[in-house]
Amino acid sequence: MSAPNPRGKRVGVLGGGQLGRMMMDPAHRLGIKLLVLDAHDAPARHVSGFAGHVVGDFKDPAKIAELAKSVDVVTVEIEHVNAEALADVVKTNTGVDIQPSPNTIRTIQDKFAQKELLNSHGVPLGAFRRVESREDAVAVGEEFGYPYMLKSRTLAYDGKGNAVVASAADVDGAMSKLGSSVGKPTPLYAEKWVPFVKEMAVMVVRGLDGQLASYPVVETVHKNSILDLCFAPAQVDGLVAKKARGVAEKAVGCFDGAGMYGVELFLLKDGTILLNEIAPRPHNSGHYTIEACHTSQFENHLRAILGLPLGACGLKVGAAAMYNIVGSSDGDGGMKEVEQIVASAMGVPGAAVHLYGKKECRRGRKMGHVTVTGDTMSQVVDRVSA
Ligand code: ATP
Ligand code: MG
Ligand code: MG
Repeated sequence: MSAPNPRGKRVGVLGGGQLGRMMMDPAHRLGIKLLVLDAHDAPARHVSGFAGHVVGDFKDPAKIAELAKSVDVVTVEIEHVNAEALADVVKTNTGVDIQPSPNTIRTIQDKFAQKELLNSHGVPLGAFRRVESREDAVAVGEEFGYPYMLKSRTLAYDGKGNAVVASAADVDGAMSKLGSSVGKPTPLYAEKWVPFVKEMAVMVVRGLDGQLASYPVVETVHKNSILDLCFAPAQVDGLVAKKARGVAEKAVGCFDGAGMYGVELFLLKDGTILLNEIAPRPHNSGHYTIEACHTSQFENHLRAILGLPLGACGLKVGAAAMYNIVGSSDGDGGMKEVEQIVASAMGVPGAAVHLYGKKECRRGRKMGHVTVTGDTMSQVVDRVSA
């Protein structure tokens, strides 16, 4: 039997931001036609060269159906899509595959539902509770103690759906912060504070045949709840790394569908590993794989959803670090700072600069990233400091 051939395959992506943009390069190399549904100036379209993108909102059922008509498989670069519309596409258009499954996307996009499912499969998690009223939020404080974390169940990213509740007097402020930042009424839930010593992440890929493979464990460092730095491999004990990959693979095993999954983890002082959250797509803490691993997360996502053989996930360099270029302020001032970071990175050996082509800089917006590779972690750390 001949191996499946990627050439001529067509993939549709809901969302054309930086993740869709970084999928374009492996798509070109493999002869896969990659079409996105997003605004006409979306970052992925700048580097595409393909005709047939769909201009519109990736939550619009009609646009999703239109994209689905011209591709073999539909996938996502963001989980905040219209999962119902995706499920309807499967019913009306039997010629198209959706990966990962609409059901997986629907469960993961609701962080509370995600945690309930993971919990029912015995994946280690911090304590969490449903919060449907002010009274619930106060009762949670009595049970968990303060501070605890109040979270929006849906539409969360870069910490925008999180509020720290420092005391009972903070409940109203936290509830209104989440209500105003993500639209009313906002479904909420609470998490007990996790006193982690490190945050880690594992990228896991699952092929159409169910085969799982995971990338090395990385250490992630957040600033203002946005990923700032990512070090690969994580500088942790080998047993911790093995356990982390085990937890990540078990978590992904709770969902169906092919593709990349990004699994965020907490490491506690006593070596306990708890899962924070999972993303059903390539993930910011997997960007380092482009320069540092045999197969990038973007290529493996395409291979997985098309039923092609998965590529090796191991490091091909001694160590790597990724630094996110995040807007420090709105407008020209912020853009100038981005340019300064790019200029200094260009003088660093082993540094690869990625800019996402976003026309405007905004405070807290991901504008690009730099991956630095080297023979050893200490060399990489020296290069990052430079
Ligand atoms: P992302 O951009 O990764 O999707 P998000 O908006 O979904 O992020 P979380 O991952 O839930 O937000 O939280 C952001 C950060 O806040 C975490 O990486 C961690 O640093 C901190 N955090 C989240 N939950 C807790 C918790 N229960 N206890 C302590 N810190 C937490
Ligand atoms: Mg999240
Ligand atoms: Mg997160």
